[in-house]
Amino acid sequence: MNRNDILLIHGTNYKEMTKHLLEKADLAGLINDSHKRIALKPNLVAPSSPSEGATTHGELIEGTLEYLLEHHFCNITVMEGSWVGAKTSDALRATGYDRILKKYNIPFADLQKDTWHEYDACGMKIRLCDKAAAADFMINIPVLKGHCQTAVTCALKNQKGVIPNSEKRRFHTLGLHRPIAHLNTIVRNDFILVDNICGDLDFEEGGNPVEMNRILGFRDPVLCDAFVCKTMGYAPEDVPYITLAENLKIGSTDLSHANCIYLNHPEAEQQLPQTRRVQKLAKYISSSDACSACYGSLIYALDRLNEKGFLHAALPKLGIGQGFRGKDGKIGIGQCTACFHKSLKGCPPSAADIYKFLLKNWR
Ligand code: SF4
Repeated sequence: MNRNDILLIHGTNYKEMTKHLLEKADLAGLINDSHKRIALKPNLVAPSSPSEGATTHGELIEGTLEYLLEHHFCNITVMEGSWVGAKTSDALRATGYDRILKKYNIPFADLQKDTWHEYDACGMKIRLCDKAAAADFMINIPVLKGHCQTAVTCALKNQKGVIPNSEKRRFHTLGLHRPIAHLNTIVRNDFILVDNICGDLDFEEGGNPVEMNRILGFRDPVLCDAFVCKTMGYAPEDVPYITLAENLKIGSTDLSHANCIYLNHPEAEQQLPQTRRVQKLAKYISSSDACSACYGSLIYALDRLNEKGFLHAALPKLGIGQGFRGKDGKIGIGQCTACFHKSLKGCPPSAADIYKFLLKNWR
């Protein structure tokens, strides 16, 4: 797998999807030494079920552990430090990781309790937990979701879990963006496995999950976060830590040279019950057998339009889903609505493309 590759897999069998994606990425070849100390860094920000949109689904951890053990990698630790307001041990139980780690006999490092050292992170002093610093290969497993301060959070910001609590507080006083970018110059980010199953609309702690049923793989954390911006209807420039990280040579935001590798096609799925905030956006949609990745992209785009004050009751409903294939209509999203008077190509289209299309065509 090259630095500019993006692997995408859709579905609901998350553990098997994870293993399939890791095989395609040839993760074992990337690690390339069974003696290496491998760290898995999920997002356990708070004691919250992954279905709420904040924390990494346990199936991604299980799939990764099975893959690594089957390829004879045994020196594995799962590590995380929850945010300052929560205990990591509570998050471990709320997500079911305690049972998973016991089943595979894998140690967990609570980084809230770890020792640390200070490093020079390209001109900024940053404290990093010792167990994270000791890893030879870091598999970052963030959730793609919104964030109330930074708009999005994924690969780069997930690494805030590998610093001590005192440093997390200091990051907030420094405005988050600059320290997050500099932190990523000293922490490893060898492979990024993104939980894009049902990340939150706009809040790190969850509560308004947007179902997309997708898992993504990257080697470049900056490319990952640029792709996340597109998925949620933003540009990388809207999230300063991403462009700062690019300036620090951590990776590239250049999606025009990214190579998207689709391991399967999205399929129509029954939508999970929605929270009231998501329902408010969904009332602009007429859905018939829509795939989650398509529907979720549209929800994110509608949220961007809502922020701009664009939404109002007189707008025609947006058609989406495989049930509209070959049918006509006013305005539709995705290639299934190709026969509509106005239709946006893509399968699924990104929220950024939907946002631009609707700004121009939805009156
Ligand atoms: S365009 Fe149609 S098939 Fe493609 S993701 Fe959207 S609903 Fe699914």
